[in-house]
Amino acid sequence: MARILDGKAIQQQILDELRPRIARLAALRRPPGLVAILVGDTPASQLYVASKVKTCRELGMYSEELRLPAAVSTEELLGHIRHFNERDDIDGILVQMPLPKHVDSRAVLLAIRPEKDVDGFHPFNVGQLVANAPAPRACTPAGVMELLRRSGIDPAGAEAVIVGRSDIVGKPMALLLLHAHATVTICHSKTRDLPAVCRRADILVAAMGKPAFITAEFIRPGAVVIDVGINRVTDRAEAERIARGAPAKLAAFEKNGSVLVGDVHPGDAAALAGAYTPVPGGVGPLTIAMLMANTVECAEKRLA
Ligand code: NDP
Repeated sequence: MARILDGKAIQQQILDELRPRIARLAALRRPPGLVAILVGDTPASQLYVASKVKTCRELGMYSEELRLPAAVSTEELLGHIRHFNERDDIDGILVQMPLPKHVDSRAVLLAIRPEKDVDGFHPFNVGQLVANAPAPRACTPAGVMELLRRSGIDPAGAEAVIVGRSDIVGKPMALLLLHAHATVTICHSKTRDLPAVCRRADILVAAMGKPAFITAEFIRPGAVVIDVGINRVTDRAEAERIARGAPAKLAAFEKNGSVLVGDVHPGDAAALAGAYTPVPGGVGPLTIAMLMANTVECAEKRLA
């Protein structure tokens, strides 16, 4: 039986370790402060931002949420970022991605002061990541590394295969695993014979945004399977395919008319992997934990 890597429990450990650091900062000067900027009314983005702000508040950090209409111009958004760059009580600035198409995302990322870039997306911080130098790291891949470390899984010498090459997950994930001495392969939509490449993996990371795409033929028996994907499935036939070997998924579908699934087939992961992350409750909670950790670290650096 595959071991389930419980992201919620590990999130709690990380948050508990942050509490005394937050209390120390609050006693010294003030609690760490995070602003989350949300453009438009995409339900998933609203949910992510709400959950980040809620976690901040539970930890006793200061948090602010700025909601802007989908029609906001790049210039107006940059104006808000400049304001938060100057605000002394704000240590972290988060702009929830994706932004509407007309907004120049790169200009937005560039505008955030690197020392307040708690998402680790600023080109300066990306450069620091490439050089393995200290800087805020992209939260989701950093969360995966924490999950591996705290689960006693050492990537050194392992074959790691990442499916997905986005700037926010796939690429930083590859660099972090490389720095942890894994032998890394990055796959994408043009990769030839994806199942065969994936079957080489001791550690397989799926970050594609394709519900339950990674099935048995992609998984080497005993592999560690990390499922970054978050997809909402509303089609019954698709839900039934995904529920093979994972009946709870169909029950959730019957109850809610939709079900949340990762990029990995849950039944196949449970049957074949040595260890795997469930969706929900795997990588997602770690992303939030690392955002909190990045904010505390940015505050410590600014207040030191
Ligand atoms: P993107 O859409 O930016 O990137 C998807 C990547 O997957 C691309 O590199 C694409 O290849 C690759 N891909 C897509 N289809 C295939 C295929 N059939 N075969 C091989 N490669 C393929 O997604 P993100 O990186 O932003 O997100 C990935 C998933 O992770 C999503 O489900 C997202 O919701 C989730 N996510 C979860 C987070 C969490 O906290 N758990 C945080 C962030 C994201 P190509 O480059 O060639 O197009």
